[in-house]
Amino acid sequence: MAHQDQMHRYLFENHAVRGELVTVSDTWQEIISGHDYPQPVQQVLGELLVATSLLTATLKFDGDITVQLQGDGPLALAVINGNNRQEMRGVARLQGDIAEGSSLKEMVGNGYLVITISPLEGERYQGVVGLEGETLAECLEDYFMRSEQLPTRLFIRTGENAGKPGAGGILLQVLPAEDADPEDFNHLATLTETIETEELLGLPANDVLWRLYHQEEVTVYDPQGVRFHCTCSQERCGEVLRTLPEEEVDQILSEDGKIDMHCDYCGSHYIFDAVDIAAIRKDSTAGNDQVH
Ligand SMILES: [Zn+2]
Repeated sequence: MAHQDQMHRYLFENHAVRGELVTVSDTWQEIISGHDYPQPVQQVLGELLVATSLLTATLKFDGDITVQLQGDGPLALAVINGNNRQEMRGVARLQGDIAEGSSLKEMVGNGYLVITISPLEGERYQGVVGLEGETLAECLEDYFMRSEQLPTRLFIRTGENAGKPGAGGILLQVLPAEDADPEDFNHLATLTETIETEELLGLPANDVLWRLYHQEEVTVYDPQGVRFHCTCSQERCGEVLRTLPEEEVDQILSEDGKIDMHCDYCGSHYIFDAVDIAAIRKDSTAGNDQVH
């Protein structure tokens, strides 16, 4: 039986190194459903989803991370946003045809990876790395080296399990402010690299970790569920409408009789009629932050 979408954290007792292992299937399917993405784009979104899940699991505070690929190629944008509760959403935007079997570089062209970390409280941080590596994992390792100076390795796999598309990944990272022997870290990375897609997607996490590290002492923590969830709402759309020029809003209202706000992430529509708009404006002039 396929296991659920889950994030597992683990620690090597005899090395200053920690790990994370995640597998996703339903979450990925929900993100790509309702869009007509070509297969290579679906795959990039799967890899980005795994990467974002692994990155948000490194957060030591409540907040969210957006991992975004941008470039001048036919795949203009691919983005996944996830928070510390492992609630994920994502979208891709195309500006040209994408051939079957296209590589990351062929799709993105001259591009870069933008990582935005938004704590619920505190300042936003943004890191940008050029798309120089061949794979998303390599670009992210580059990002960790530059931004946190923490040796980090990522292993991302996509494939099928029990007839369903699945994606998974492992992150290994030296613990901050501890002396990890670089040789130890390389040894653990070499072991991790041997992970087979079928094992990662098809076996329970504990079995995968046993296969990879049976000579090591590994502590595995309680897993965390990963799921698709979009944070859009009528209220948030109202806040966006309030920032638009009134003439523009009035013109759409007089032409269409309503404003239809569409969420790219989940496909939800939020409808505002003249009465709703009047209420939003009234609240805004009263200095009230509540839309309803
Ligand atoms: Zn949404």
